[in-house]
Amino acid sequence: MKALVVGAGIAGLVVARQLGLAGWEVELLEKSAAPRPDGYMMDFFGPGVEAAERIGLYSRLAAVAYHVEAAEYVDGRGRPTSSLDYDQFARLAGGKALSLLRPDMEQATRAALDDVDPGRVRVRYGAPVSRVWSDDEGVLVAVDGSPNLTLAADVLVGADGIHSGVRAEVFDREEEYLRPMGMRAAAFIVTEPLLNARFRNRFVLTDSIDRVVGLYSLRSDKVAAFMVYRDASGATGDLRFESPRERLRREFAGLGQAVDRLLELCPEHPYDDVVAQIIMPGWQKGRTVLVGDACGAVSLLAGQGGSLAIAGAALLGDILGPVASPDGISSALTEFERRWAPVVEVAQAAGRRSASSFLPANRVQRLLRRWIIRATRLPGVDRLVARQIVARIAK
Ligand SMILES: Cc1cc2nc3c(=O)[nH]c(=O)nc-3n(C[C@H](O)[C@H](O)[C@H](O)COP(=O)(O)OP(=O)(O)OC[C@H]3O[C@@H](n4cnc5c(N)ncnc54)[C@H](O)[C@@H]3O)c2cc1C
Repeated sequence: MKALVVGAGIAGLVVARQLGLAGWEVELLEKSAAPRPDGYMMDFFGPGVEAAERIGLYSRLAAVAYHVEAAEYVDGRGRPTSSLDYDQFARLAGGKALSLLRPDMEQATRAALDDVDPGRVRVRYGAPVSRVWSDDEGVLVAVDGSPNLTLAADVLVGADGIHSGVRAEVFDREEEYLRPMGMRAAAFIVTEPLLNARFRNRFVLTDSIDRVVGLYSLRSDKVAAFMVYRDASGATGDLRFESPRERLRREFAGLGQAVDRLLELCPEHPYDDVVAQIIMPGWQKGRTVLVGDACGAVSLLAGQGGSLAIAGAALLGDILGPVASPDGISSALTEFERRWAPVVEVAQAAGRRSASSFLPANRVQRLLRRWIIRATRLPGVDRLVARQIVARIAK
């Protein structure tokens, strides 16, 4: 059996590996010329942890994780207003939680392709898929480039992220499924030894209204920053009149020295995108199925996109892997969606509920967040309630 997987992000890499291990021949097509170095820190907990352990990926992820002692909200002068111990967060999140840089997570997952027999999974970078269609034999894709390339397979897996082109080709245009959450997120990494030393082993967030900056110290004097701010302009954002960097400088001015320094060092083209979810009535059509953010983006507010990408991709591999003839494909894809969609829906609902604690709109909401964080330390707080709170606020 042969599969085409579009997108070598976390979901695509895991599906490709699991199908390869099951004996499939897999072509993994990635539009970037090389693995994408840009990234942000991700909390990895929940369903992805269990899935990563089951498929033998967890130890590889743990090996590149960062040690974070606490998540701390700070005021404009850098003084803590509330903090959450990370071990406590891990306990409440079910026992295991890792902090990983997105490109490290991707690289560890890519390295796990070595577990597959040589030749079973072929990864092509610089291979943007531009067209998808099907015939009686299966699915076909056209890859832009020189020379133009057409590939055919029994199954097509669209793991091409929140702005999925496979989704637009096989299902409908993005506007039908993308639900903006009234915010944009930017992320970038800078080299700054002083800030690195100041924030080491802590995840620092500004305790601000309508905008938040998160900072982690990385290895090699680097600092990873993400910035989230309100934006009602929808999926594209109106960036006609200023560059993303200028816009960040305008949006985040006045949040203190550390943020000012970050804005000074911000690259011209940081990662910058709408914060949104993808909500679709169905994830599979004929021999095409979507996985990861392409069909079920939960948004960074849920803090579980990477975790769900791994768990969903591993489940798809479990269900599709044993299929030995094209006749079994359709029911396998239906079964995948039947089992996985409810899990994604729960995470999406949690993401929507967390909007006001993640980005308080006023002082009352900010106070409430401080109170909630402090309450998680009280011995009497019910573990389940606390776990829910942590999932909502401790991104
Ligand atoms: C600022 C921020 C913070 C986040 N924090 C967390 C967190 O703490 N915890 C967490 O679990 N999640 C977090 N997430 C979400 C998480 O990053 C995503 O949910 C996850 O990476 C989705 O993985 P994916 O493989 O589905 O998609 P992606 O990682 O988007 O990968 C899709 C791949 O497809 C490729 N592609 C796209 N189009 C084509 C094409 N036409 N042809 C070929 N290739 C194509 C892309 O180049 C890309 O490599 C965060 C996201 C953001 C933006």
